[in-house]
Amino acid sequence: MTPPSAPPITSGKVVVLDPGHNGGNASHPAEINRKVPAGRGQTKPCNTTGTATNAGYPEHEFTWDVAQRVGKALAGKGIRVVYTRQNDSGVGPCVDRRAAIGNEADADAVVSIHADGSTAAGANGFHVAYSSPPLNAAQGEPSTRLAQVVRDTLRTGGFSTSNYIGGNGLSARSDLGGLNLSTRPAVLVECGNMRNAAEAARMTSAEGRQQYASAIAAAIEAYLAS
Ligand SMILES: [Zn+2]
Repeated sequence: MTPPSAPPITSGKVVVLDPGHNGGNASHPAEINRKVPAGRGQTKPCNTTGTATNAGYPEHEFTWDVAQRVGKALAGKGIRVVYTRQNDSGVGPCVDRRAAIGNEADADAVVSIHADGSTAAGANGFHVAYSSPPLNAAQGEPSTRLAQVVRDTLRTGGFSTSNYIGGNGLSARSDLGGLNLSTRPAVLVECGNMRNAAEAARMTSAEGRQQYASAIAAAIEAYLAS
């Protein structure tokens, strides 16, 4: 008789996935330009439209699809997944609300998924942003460790670190509202540069998005198990 296997160490953990932007943002400028608290005494627009590939494949669609794929992988490991938005056709939510969703869920990890749009020649690669200087305990060691694990796992998955922002795939940021307002371990992954031809091709293909998602899911599992 085979003994019943123990549940995975990550079972029962809560992960909040935050797909950047939203499909309805561009057509609702008044709503998304409304200023909201962004931490450190700053205010910022509620949300932004995000970027796109040169061929017009939008960031919000990329982040939505990758987040769904990450969520499926995590749910299969017994992890409870909460999304900051429920479709790709709505408006917002605002960055302060996105942070609140992670806080209210008591998330063990919060991962925001984005892609960049740099027009600098040759700019490519991913980077992982975290709040710095930290505003609470969760933004200290837990968030920087989460950032390092995501960086390491993406690199192992065959993705190269950014050659134009941050250092060694990491970026300490004081200006990102969603990270500033988080009281849970939180990072923001810029998966790559949508204006770079090779990265745009990868992001536009379902196979490429699955590669991003598999690496991000593996990173979250590794972080939760550590
Ligand atoms: Zn973005």
